[in-house]
Amino acid sequence: MDTSASNRRRSIALFGGTFDPVHFGHLRMALELRQALGFDQMRLLPCRQPHHRQSPRASVQQRRDMLTLALEKGGELQLDERELHRAGPTFTVDTLEDLRAELGTEVSISFCMGLDSLLTLPSWHRRERLLQVAHLVVVARPGWRLPEDGEVARLLREHAGTRAQIREEAQGRLLVCEQTPLPISASQIRRLLAQRQSPRFLLPAAVLQYIEDNQLYGITASGGS
Ligand code: ATP
Repeated sequence: MDTSASNRRRSIALFGGTFDPVHFGHLRMALELRQALGFDQMRLLPCRQPHHRQSPRASVQQRRDMLTLALEKGGELQLDERELHRAGPTFTVDTLEDLRAELGTEVSISFCMGLDSLLTLPSWHRRERLLQVAHLVVVARPGWRLPEDGEVARLLREHAGTRAQIREEAQGRLLVCEQTPLPISASQIRRLLAQRQSPRFLLPAAVLQYIEDNQLYGITASGGS
C-alpha cells in the first residue's frame, strides 16, 4: 500500500467576499493563492450579509448565479454556498467550525483574507477560536506594513507559519502572503454600469451578460453597457 499518498493531508482554502459582482480580481487572486500554497481545493465563499458595510445590491440568488457562471464546472475554483443558506448574521468563526465538523480533524483548512480585514480582527466575533479551527492566510500587497504592537502583532508573532506548515498542519498558523491584486473592484464595476459605461474585460463575459439580462446595478432595458 502506498502510505505516502494516504498520509498526505488534504488542504482546503476559502476566499470570502460579497462578490457583488464577482470579477477577475477575485478570480485571479484565488487562483494565485491556490497555486502559491498548493491547496487541493480553493473555494469562493460568498457571504449573505456583510457586517461592516451596506447590503449587496444583487440578491443572494443573483450573486450565486454570477459565481456559478464565473467558476465553470470542474475548474480550478469551487463555490461554497454555506453562508448564503444561513439566516441571520454570518460570522466567519461559525463557518469555519461548520467546515471543521464536516471535514474532520485531519484536513488543513485555511481562511484567506486581505491585510485590511486582518487589521479589523480585534472586533471579530469569537476571534480566539478562529486559529483553533483553521489557518489564516493574509494577502498583502508588495510594500505592506504589519502592525508592530497590539493584538494583531501578537497573533502574527505567536502563530507565524510557513507555506509548508499551512499544508502539513490542520490549523493554527497565520501566514502573510505577498500577492499583487489586479486593480479591479466590484464598486468600480457597479459605478461604470450605473454611468452606462462598459465594464467589459474586468469580469467574465458570461457574468456581464447575466448582469445585462437581469438589468442589475442600474442598467435599464434601453441603456445597457
Ligand atoms: P467592493 O468594491 O464592493 O468593496 P470588492 O471588489 O472589494 O468589492 P469583495 O467581494 O468585497 O470585492 O471582496 C472579496 C475579497 O476579494 C476580499 O478579500 C477582497 O480583499 C478581495 N479582493 C477584492 N478585489 C480584489 C482584487 N482586485 N484583487 C484581489 N483581491 C481582491
